[in-house]
Amino acid sequence: MKISPSQSWRLKNTLYSLTLGICKKCGNVFYPYQSICGNCGSVDVEKVKAKGTGTLLEYTVLYQTREGFEKQVPIIVGLIRLDEGLDIVAPLTDVEANELKEGVRVEAVLRRLRSDSTNGLIQYGIKFRVIDNAGNN
Ligand SMILES: [Zn+2]
Repeated sequence: MKISPSQSWRLKNTLYSLTLGICKKCGNVFYPYQSICGNCGSVDVEKVKAKGTGTLLEYTVLYQTREGFEKQVPIIVGLIRLDEGLDIVAPLTDVEANELKEGVRVEAVLRRLRSDSTNGLIQYGIKFRVIDNAGNN
């Protein structure tokens, strides 16, 4: 997927700040934020900034990836339960797979995802890092 600079700018708040949508009609919590609930179609959706902390439920290590991400292999991808109760899949950073344990606390950080050589755009996005490594060893 190519994201143009203008698209990137428009998506900035949603992608970079971990903005969730909470449907006031059915209670559905989702990420990224959209103005319409994907569950019930209501437009009565509240925009909520997640605290950015959660618990690592599971993780997997990817040794193959799509074009543009080769330099980051292996990539550790985690299933993270945000403190708001929503499960999201996001890459983990600043950690080796053999140091990871399911159940550790993690927090969102903004990191460079890739440089797009065709237009010079650097994409940033949310990754998660472990915040309570101490005591788990
Ligand atoms: Zn809904």
